Amino acid sequence: MNIETLPYGNAGLEEKKRLIEEVISSRPGPPFMYNDVLILVPAARMKRSYGRLFLEAVERIHGSAALVQPEVRTLHQFLYHLYAKINGPLLMDENSRLVLLEGIVKELITGKSSFGDHPDILAPSLSAVVADMLEQLSSAGIASQQLAATVRESDFSDKNQVILLVDAYEQYEQIMSKKNLLDPARTLMLLLDQFDPEWLSPYSRIIIDGINDVDEIQARLIRKIAAHPGCTLLVDAPSAESIRRAGDHHPLRLTKDFLGCIGLLPGPSAAAASPEDRFLSEALFSDKPFDRQAEKAPQPASFNKNIRVLSAVSTREEVSLIAGEIKKSLQLGAAPDSILVAFPALDEYGPLVEELFNDFGIPYNRALGRQLSTSPVTMSILSLFRAVQEDFSGPSLMRIVSSPFLKFGEHPLVAPALDRLMRDRRIPGGKYKLLSALRYQSRDNGGGDILTDLMTDLFKALEPFSADESEPLALWMEKLADLMAWSDIGARVEAIKGPLSSNSQAYKKLTETLVSLGRAGNLFPEYRYTFGEWHFLLRKTFMHTRFQVPPEDEGGVQILGLSESRGHAWNEIYLGGLTDAKFPQRLPQNIFLPEATLESLGVRTLERSRMAAAHHFYRLLLSAASVTLSYPENEGDRPAVPSPFLEELAPLRKAGLINRGVEKASGIQFSLKIEESRSIPELAKAIAINGYDRSLSIILNTNIKGMAGIQSALDYHPAESASPLVLPLKREFTVTELDTYLNCPYDYYVLRVLGMKPLAEVTEDISPLDRGSKVHAILRNFYLSWNKAITGENRREARVLLGKLADSAFNAEADTFRNRRDKEMFLAIMAERFLDAEEKFWQQGMRPAYLEWKIEGYRLVLSNGTEVELSAKIDRIDVDESGNFMIVDYKTGKYPQPKMSADQDIFQLPVYAAMARTALKSGSPVLNMPIGLVYYDLSGRIGGAARDVVLFDKEVLSDQPSSKPKASPRSAEEFEAVLKQSMGKARKAVEGILAGDFSPKPQDENKCRYCPNGIMCRNEER
Ligand code: SF4
Repeated sequence: MNIETLPYGNAGLEEKKRLIEEVISSRPGPPFMYNDVLILVPAARMKRSYGRLFLEAVERIHGSAALVQPEVRTLHQFLYHLYAKINGPLLMDENSRLVLLEGIVKELITGKSSFGDHPDILAPSLSAVVADMLEQLSSAGIASQQLAATVRESDFSDKNQVILLVDAYEQYEQIMSKKNLLDPARTLMLLLDQFDPEWLSPYSRIIIDGINDVDEIQARLIRKIAAHPGCTLLVDAPSAESIRRAGDHHPLRLTKDFLGCIGLLPGPSAAAASPEDRFLSEALFSDKPFDRQAEKAPQPASFNKNIRVLSAVSTREEVSLIAGEIKKSLQLGAAPDSILVAFPALDEYGPLVEELFNDFGIPYNRALGRQLSTSPVTMSILSLFRAVQEDFSGPSLMRIVSSPFLKFGEHPLVAPALDRLMRDRRIPGGKYKLLSALRYQSRDNGGGDILTDLMTDLFKALEPFSADESEPLALWMEKLADLMAWSDIGARVEAIKGPLSSNSQAYKKLTETLVSLGRAGNLFPEYRYTFGEWHFLLRKTFMHTRFQVPPEDEGGVQILGLSESRGHAWNEIYLGGLTDAKFPQRLPQNIFLPEATLESLGVRTLERSRMAAAHHFYRLLLSAASVTLSYPENEGDRPAVPSPFLEELAPLRKAGLINRGVEKASGIQFSLKIEESRSIPELAKAIAINGYDRSLSIILNTNIKGMAGIQSALDYHPAESASPLVLPLKREFTVTELDTYLNCPYDYYVLRVLGMKPLAEVTEDISPLDRGSKVHAILRNFYLSWNKAITGENRREARVLLGKLADSAFNAEADTFRNRRDKEMFLAIMAERFLDAEEKFWQQGMRPAYLEWKIEGYRLVLSNGTEVELSAKIDRIDVDESGNFMIVDYKTGKYPQPKMSADQDIFQLPVYAAMARTALKSGSPVLNMPIGLVYYDLSGRIGGAARDVVLFDKEVLSDQPSSKPKASPRSAEEFEAVLKQSMGKARKAVEGILAGDFSPKPQDENKCRYCPNGIMCRNEER
């Protein structure tokens, strides 16, 4: 047996090629039969790479493409191929295993008060963790008796979940043996016991490549295979020495342990790593101080590696960044398949990467399988059950009638007709409400209509799924088979083929999976399911089942999972999505056994999975001359934390070896400049923002896909010209509408002139707008009832009052999860923040004097001497005894922040202050001088105290709570200047509206990224 250490990247690949050439040269003439050569690899993709390497080498050496390929298998495939040689019990598939465990767990927890009264709720999720735990124990060679013995001697033997685990394992083994079944892990144990070296006799050479992360039993089986005299074990590492030196937390510890397990020492290095990679391999994950490693770094000028760490504002911008960099490389002549794009969470990133790479025109190959649950074919079937679960809510029905894979796809008018019906009658869904609305409608229409017939058909088809009783799994699967036949999904998938026939592949996998569940049902007829449990089982199964879309061509930029990227040489690597919790993945703490016990039982620990992730990070950094690491700064609306592995680059950063020649490494967003556009959507957006320049026609007339679309959009002119749009009769304006105009005149035009808004979903949930109105109403009503200072002593009383007001505001709404959550959020966060702020506020000698106060008929003189009227509704005005007042605005979301200059983004509050000073100079109480503008940050979006005094006259007020303590305090003159300038803006806005100026001029260009009018706004007339 021979062992060789190969460096990562090109140097290692060259060594593999040399080995293959050696094998090929051993057959001097035809026939070129290599089926006595066995190659074992960890991943399917490496199998294909070896196939290609052989083909190329035979052509190169013998000038022939005719060969009998060697047997290239994944380790997993080979071991099951060997198992077929022993006449062992039937191998049970994963779905049957889950069904069995779910049944056992449910039986064990039923009637046990410690697990609550509803085993049906707990069993599905609990059984999934029990199944994982048993798989790990089984893979480590631990039988139920050994587990029971370990637990007996421990001090946690009386814990409910531990007892459950031990009992479940015991029952599982008993049932398996009674039914003569074997699970995958036990299969390997049996194989180990009965291993016969004779099984390897058909092979003269065996090459084992890239395997280092296996469990105990697999390692022992590899040891037996490696005992073959013609075996060569290839180990990936910078050098044999680096494996020998790997400390406890070093990524190469996995390789070191693996070799130890099969009783081998690292073999000689077959090729030397480059000096850059030698330095990197020592600096990364070193147990020495960063400074000491940095001292050993080469000079930046002589460091021939390009390592960049970049961060973008969001996940989409991160993928745009990667796509943009790859596009640049391709334009400079890089070969697409020499570029790797990898993500630790490829399932999450995959669809976005495909979308943006298509936009950028980048050829790519996404090789990893996809989750069955994400396929539109699977989703269409699940949408039927979701409708049953939600009692046919509006959105669930719309999903069904608009799916092209269900029989309704034949009737394109059904979806709009149903949507119209639900909106007209304001029905959020519900079978009986809909049926009654349909009855009225058909009576009005003088008879039956297509919608009534189709809905009745749908409700009837789903009738078998509405029963409350539990039924055997096999029966549920039969009902599903009937439903699928009714839905006509098979024929429709055939008719609607997706790209690379992904729909057909998904459908094929879906039917296979359902057959497998049906088999599990027949195997274990004793376990029964309610509809909810069965639906959960389906979703869970579809989630962990993957389907492959066989590529027509594996060329292009390679988008791979981390494991799939092994065994290749890359020129450029982009490793994205490097955030904490995803890389390394944050795994839940084991709920059954402590880590130390798991370690002693040889079960993979959390630390081991961290090391596997660290190994990928280490390997990829050493696998190409150019490596770009990236992460999003925000995920959704939450800030993201970069992966802790990036800290390992500290020595390189200190030595100036990171981001050389990069101008901007963080906060990256795509450019909105026309000349910097890299894709058709970016160009369309940039033209919309910056205007159309005739010189662009050269580009727009090129034969590039998508250009014609932009050109025809630009060429389109409405049949009846709307020019110039003047609204001379309008003389009254609200301050809110002027704010909308200032934010973007085009947006104002769409919203206020055309009155167009995106259609809101018909739902029983309160909309964010309604929630905001409720919060405003509660806080107004609070001070209508409460007429004294809020203090520490009476705070409880104030809270009770807020609670009562919240009850009457929210309890009138439907009892939905979101509505309940909104109320809870008001009570737990907003009300508490409000009371905190009020306690302090009342100590300042002010009081809330005007609540939701309307000012109308405020006269604003325009530049041409004419007048218009402004109106406003002010949430609250706080006044002191001298008539000094502050304008208050309650906010449940974000609000503009003060700026150091007089020109502010804050617009409404200063205008309110100027209006209130005039309108209430003889009010009761009298308002004299505005001294402050206040936002209440009720949900804590900005941070700090709820009462945020964003601008105030520091000569009257001191020590105000404000999130911007430098920009907020102003001299009396500066404060007055802000008021004046804002009034000037109001005047300009009115003049712009009256002049019909609705050009797309966003105040903040970032708004365009998320604006729903993005596809409509056009500004070539500007
Ligand atoms: S996309 Fe930008 S320019 Fe167009 S309407 Fe929206 S905010 Fe205005």
